Amino acid sequence: MSKDSSERLRRLPAIEKLVSDPLVASLGAAVPRSILLQAARSVVDRLRERSSSGEPLTDSDLSLESVAAAVRDTALRMARNSLRRAINATGIILHTGLGRAVLSDAAREAVMQVASGHSTLEIDIESGSRGSRSAHYSCILSQLCGAEAALAVNNNAGAVLLALNTIALGREIIVSRGQLVEIGGSFRMPEIMSRAGAKLVEVGTTNRTRISDYELAITENTGMLLRVHPSNFRIVGFAQDASLFEISDLGKRYSIPVMDDLGSGALLDLSSFGMRAEPLVAESLRAGADIVTFSGDKLMGGPQAGLIVGRRELVDAMAVNPLARALRLDKLVLAALEATLRLYLEPETLAATLPSIRCITRPADEVTAEVTRLKKRLDSLRLPDVHTAMLDGSSEVGGGSLPGEQIPTTLLAVTKTDLSPDAIALAFRHNDPPILGRVANDAFLLDLRTVLPGEPDQIVKAASGIFQN
Ligand SMILES: *Cc1c(COP(=O)(O)O)cnc(C)c1O
Repeated sequence: MSKDSSERLRRLPAIEKLVSDPLVASLGAAVPRSILLQAARSVVDRLRERSSSGEPLTDSDLSLESVAAAVRDTALRMARNSLRRAINATGIILHTGLGRAVLSDAAREAVMQVASGHSTLEIDIESGSRGSRSAHYSCILSQLCGAEAALAVNNNAGAVLLALNTIALGREIIVSRGQLVEIGGSFRMPEIMSRAGAKLVEVGTTNRTRISDYELAITENTGMLLRVHPSNFRIVGFAQDASLFEISDLGKRYSIPVMDDLGSGALLDLSSFGMRAEPLVAESLRAGADIVTFSGDKLMGGPQAGLIVGRRELVDAMAVNPLARALRLDKLVLAALEATLRLYLEPETLAATLPSIRCITRPADEVTAEVTRLKKRLDSLRLPDVHTAMLDGSSEVGGGSLPGEQIPTTLLAVTKTDLSPDAIALAFRHNDPPILGRVANDAFLLDLRTVLPGEPDQIVKAASGIFQN
């Protein structure tokens, strides 16, 4: 540490004094004192580190005014929740980093009700005795999928783990090589299988697997035939996989359970909304799968959950596996799940009631009109050196759903003469609420397809704060 800056660092007021500086003290009761002290210590520690790493500190770095301002900013950041609402202007509808599906009004209301008091979580109202958590959703879910039985756990990774462990513990599971996928967040099928206590038997090649490959691999120790929907990629060209129908037929001939991990299975045929069809859960069951697993917060548009539907004896066996207790759903999620499923009982209104379906099906010209309005509002602020432009682009469903499907959209490109697109993106992320866009074409891009009603106002406010000075 240079003698000079260490000397000046020593002259900084003590921590106790720093937090009573008017700039910091004006935060008042909004920030607990413990956080003010922690913020002051962290700011001073950071200055010490910079100084001892040889970085020359200027007088202004070390002025009481600048240190107090840094303490104030740090304290404000520490005082607010880390997990908070954010604005998704990325155009990725089911963005895992941004919490995947936005809940419907009905699901939000159900969560509020259950969170605000006691609930009927495990009470049978008729008898007054202990009931079952799964009673709240199992009938509707089975009915929507045309399944004998249904069970919901923490997420689809958990659903797969529970199913493999229940059905194939200590046995072999046959999977096509082309389906040994990694889904974001280190969900790798081979690893889940070994943790579930099952042995992976790979058949076929990356791009071609025939039903005869499965049949040749069957031994007396085969516990399951598994198909995995390769959610987040597509093999195009010389590619072929055995159909679920063929695999199910083979399973029946050898009395081996067949499972289909759909990932983002749809409860509803989206082609009626002009989308390429994502596999329907009901179709997998009709094709003969004994068990189908899928996520609650992908295309289904509900809370994070793993949904398991299929043959009653298999689902019942999963429900009594001790792992099911470790993977069980929380009451807030159950409330959101039941309310979301009930929306599917009126499929004709889903495009209005379910935010993810609304985003997917929103007509491109409606998005364009919204972008035009936003551009006008930003331009009328006359922000110095800021330019806006409208561009054609495409949104994506995300969440491993409909890979490669591009949804036409309109983007608002924002640039500033002396600021890089990355710096603009960072400033928008620092906004409260954080606003996430994309950086491409040498610009910061906002895709309004995924921006919810009311949020454009916040984008205008953020832009005026970021660019006004
Ligand atoms: C997304 C996905 C999973 C994991 O689901 P989570 O709900 O994120 O745990 C598993 N399998 C497939 C095929 C998927 O697409």
